[in-house]
Amino acid sequence: MSEKLGKTESLFAARRKRVLHAIRGEAALFPGAPELTVSRDRHYPFHQNRDLWYLTGFDEPNSALLLLGASKGPRSVLYLQDRDREVERWVGERLGIARAKRKFQIDEIRPYSSLNADLPHLLNGINVLHYALGVNERTDRMVWRLLQTPVGPRINLPHTLKDSRLITSSLRAVKDAHEIRTLRRACNITAQGIRQLIKDINIVKSERHGATLLESYFARLGAERTSFATIIAAGKNATVLHHEPKFHPLWKRELVLIDAGAEFNGYAGDITRTVPVSGVFSQPQARVYDIVYEALQAAILKSEPGSSLENVHRAAVYVITRGLVNLGILQGNVRQLVSSGAYKKYYMHRTGHWLGLDVHDITPIYFEDRLMPPANRPLVPGNVFTVEPGLYFDPKDTDLPLEYRGIGIRLEEDVLITPSGREVLTSALPCERSEIEALMKRPG
Ligand code: MG
Ligand code: MG
Repeated sequence: MSEKLGKTESLFAARRKRVLHAIRGEAALFPGAPELTVSRDRHYPFHQNRDLWYLTGFDEPNSALLLLGASKGPRSVLYLQDRDREVERWVGERLGIARAKRKFQIDEIRPYSSLNADLPHLLNGINVLHYALGVNERTDRMVWRLLQTPVGPRINLPHTLKDSRLITSSLRAVKDAHEIRTLRRACNITAQGIRQLIKDINIVKSERHGATLLESYFARLGAERTSFATIIAAGKNATVLHHEPKFHPLWKRELVLIDAGAEFNGYAGDITRTVPVSGVFSQPQARVYDIVYEALQAAILKSEPGSSLENVHRAAVYVITRGLVNLGILQGNVRQLVSSGAYKKYYMHRTGHWLGLDVHDITPIYFEDRLMPPANRPLVPGNVFTVEPGLYFDPKDTDLPLEYRGIGIRLEEDVLITPSGREVLTSALPCERSEIEALMKRPG
């Protein structure tokens, strides 16, 4: 990690302050993520609940943050597991209570084991609890217990539950300067790693090998892990949107789709390129590629303050539909084909998603205190999202000209909205067709 959490402590404190401001007189509980097992005693790598991470930077299981918007008593309490040398010998060092007290600008640090008993005391007299059900079953049970407690003259526990993501989604949708710096780095590592894999495509034995190689490049460049399961899809496998890399060889005459992301300091990159294994696009491949590339550019141009993800999507859909008509795959008037959704057979997903601590980042629900479909929310500086049009031609679709069957192409960039327009965070990696061919020719 390039930046120690100590330096960013005040940032986390400022985020908590914004939540406290939003919950005046109320309370919010953010549970840590649970530890999940693959099978028997084998665990999935631990991945912290991103809302808790956003508000604390704390990365250990069995933790929770309680924010209290009442005027009396502590305003923030972090629950965590204290140190235990026997356990730490097996699972690694914990921060522990004493060090957490010095590290965090949080009013109280308490052992996780006391959370259940603390809640009725700390929440007594507070009517509304902001809490996201379904993140952690253990804390879900604690919250249900509270809500089921009868209200009486001496016990006045919360009676109303609100989803805490209504607050965090708005905050997380607009990235601060620290987040933008971190995202730039995540995107840059992703770009450099994929660039190296494209140059090395000749040594790649299979999709699986390509994925492992790419992940090793990400690690060499400083990524902590991937931000989602790497997709390497050779030939017709690229027509499956989330294809899992197999021991499938990369044939010279085919394309290979690479959709991957490095995670850096908690933030996700997400890039897709589709390149010819031989280093040169065939004519049918080139025709499809250029349509997707043009759709990408049109969608990026629509990414600016005041626009919306809906506008961005519409720009891509128009170019894709016009391209399908030009290829002779669709017949008719482009605008009518757009409104009838004829393109959906070949372009069945949306053009992008919010990006941040999650690769499919939390979707902002409110805009200026109004409930609003997320795709229509006006874009503002600090929004970060992907732009990723594609075309997927089913290998078994006999309505298609033979030369296009089995071609799957997606291109994806990560975009930051700036006051004057946009910054493409992934521009370090070439995308235009001739630039890809030039990159694949260059040695080293
Ligand atoms: Mg992607
Ligand atoms: Mg994506």
